[in-house]
Amino acid sequence: MENTIAQKLDALLKLQEIDSSLDEILKTRGDLPEEVRDLEDEIVGFETRLGKFKSEIANLNTEIDNFKNAQKEGEKLIKKYKDQQMNVRNNREYDAITKEIELQELDMQLADKKINEARARIRLIEEDANRAESILNERNEDLKAKKNELSVITSESESEEKALSAEREKHAKKIEERLLKSYQKIRDNSLNGLAVVHVQRGACGGCFSIVPPQRQADIRERKKLIVCEHCGRILADVESVQPVHQRR
Ligand SMILES: [Zn+2]
Repeated sequence: MENTIAQKLDALLKLQEIDSSLDEILKTRGDLPEEVRDLEDEIVGFETRLGKFKSEIANLNTEIDNFKNAQKEGEKLIKKYKDQQMNVRNNREYDAITKEIELQELDMQLADKKINEARARIRLIEEDANRAESILNERNEDLKAKKNELSVITSESESEEKALSAEREKHAKKIEERLLKSYQKIRDNSLNGLAVVHVQRGACGGCFSIVPPQRQADIRERKKLIVCEHCGRILADVESVQPVHQRR
């Protein structure tokens, strides 16, 4: 069965009353939810950075190992060359092997240099990582405190919020989808969260623009949906007929 306009307006008024109460509850949380989200984002950022530092250090350690292995191979080669040098048949062969040994020694020195560079780089990364880690610990402490604070505030209003949400669902069902959507849209665009208002002392209860007497009479009849010409809010009734709702 289709609801009458008057019934829809009543449901909208009820919805507005519930939503305003829910807004009040959210207000008690202040900036805490946003601060918690910001901290969580920041912590993810630090954890990502620490992960990068770790993998950079792991890569450098692999590099160092590779150079060390190459040096071991080099030592073996040098030893082999020196054995060969004992059995050369002439000076030319001896000189050729000496050259090979020299080249191999140069390679090993270069590897030493690279190893030292990698170690220095690791130390720098470790310093950055330590700094990041101590900030991360601070942020985690902050987050814990803020989450606790928020959960205390939230738990105080938890049962009220639940009841209001259930109540809200009940009344929302009485309103068709399209109307509910425009209600939500008006609410989202309004600073005070009011989408449905009364005419109070001849003016829109949302933006205080004057509502002409003929329009007030139409609103009083509650035969069609009338919105404020200035702010677009739904004008559910005129105050003198039904007193403006009281917030709990
Ligand atoms: Zn208005």
